[in-house]
Amino acid sequence: MIWNPEMETMPRAALRALQLERLRQAVARAMRVPFYQRRFAEAGVGPEDLRDLDDLSRFPFTRKTDLRDHYPFGMLAVPREACVRLHASSGTRGKPTVAAYTRGDIEVWAEVVARSIACAGGRPGDVLHNAYGYGLFTGGLGLHYGAERMGQTVVPASGGFTTRQVELIVDFQAHGLCCTPSYALQIAETMREMGVGRSRLALRYAILGAEPWTEEMRRAIEAELGVDAVDIYGLSEIVGPGVACECAEAKAGAHIFEDHFLAEIVDPDTGEVLPPGAMGELVLTTLTKEAMPLIRYRTGDICSLDAEPCACGRTFARMSRVVGRADDMLIIRGVNVYPSEVEAVLLGAPELSGHYRILLTREGPLDRMTVEVEAAEEFAFRLGTFSEDHPAVRELSARVRRALADRLRVSAELRVLAPRALPRPQGKAVRVVDQRQAPAQGANA
Ligand SMILES: [Zn+2]
Repeated sequence: MIWNPEMETMPRAALRALQLERLRQAVARAMRVPFYQRRFAEAGVGPEDLRDLDDLSRFPFTRKTDLRDHYPFGMLAVPREACVRLHASSGTRGKPTVAAYTRGDIEVWAEVVARSIACAGGRPGDVLHNAYGYGLFTGGLGLHYGAERMGQTVVPASGGFTTRQVELIVDFQAHGLCCTPSYALQIAETMREMGVGRSRLALRYAILGAEPWTEEMRRAIEAELGVDAVDIYGLSEIVGPGVACECAEAKAGAHIFEDHFLAEIVDPDTGEVLPPGAMGELVLTTLTKEAMPLIRYRTGDICSLDAEPCACGRTFARMSRVVGRADDMLIIRGVNVYPSEVEAVLLGAPELSGHYRILLTREGPLDRMTVEVEAAEEFAFRLGTFSEDHPAVRELSARVRRALADRLRVSAELRVLAPRALPRPQGKAVRVVDQRQAPAQGANA
């Protein structure tokens, strides 16, 4: 089903007219924030300069550092008292970034998440098992309010205690599952250990996001759980999950809810707007956000846009999978490497499980990349006693190392570890450990 056919199947010319009208209002709202007043004055632009959507390219970008610089409430366009909710993203570098919501913002968020659940194949009356973390992270409460809006029965399981989660999925006969893709794999693994077969599940769909994943992972999750697995996209600065979601019909990119979020693709280096279909950095403008409107926000996510008609009937453009982060892109001996490409190679080998991590070290002037990956349980079982020196493991290791070198155009060491040798993520998976910036010799470790 399409949750809001009037908006989601609107002809694109009408959509552009609606976006332009809402964009002028959004810029006017942003000008209540001293930061934007100053920025727009410096660039010599205002709402009256928006004669068509292309005029947006004259406006300056907003960056994550701007949000940090105005921590906690400096980006609000309304009094703090008008906000009914605050979220914050974990601050790995300095202060966290704050997301604030008016009552109206929460309504819009619930609406776009209800649309996302419908994209996945969800219907009113379904049981939705929500294993996204509840708290300052937007995943848990974001899906929760959208599911309630649709009229679903939400199970606010949050993360952790996987054995109990499996019991609840079986006992409550959940129709939908939402969590990170790596946690979906972990749930499937726990089901195997518990001897819970697909015949005991009522699952039809899984709404997965908050970390990069691949087509190979999708196939693994769909086969193990018997679901349509779709990618939900979002970031807390814009609203949280529900900026875009894939439809189960096409599974070929996430439909951006363009009546609320205006998307551009720019060259990550020059900031120049790129033509339709080009790969570049996604830039989003909130069209309806009241508490914290953001104009031309640099998401850091590298993807492309496709506005061609979709099999599902929605007219909203689709964003491709995020192939990497402008700031998480690894540069190894001068070559650009995205962890998602490493993952795609590993998932192509059935003898490996989906769990891996990338270690980056430096030996003298040279970067060294080591990929650690776990053997699949079945493969290890066939070997009897698992050892990295077993001939079958060495053959596997050599084959995957060649495949990595072909795909990445840079060589990597590969270690095939025993099943369950790597730490298990409960929220976002830590896929990259970069030790190249370790303290210099003589410094305190
Ligand atoms: Zn579609």
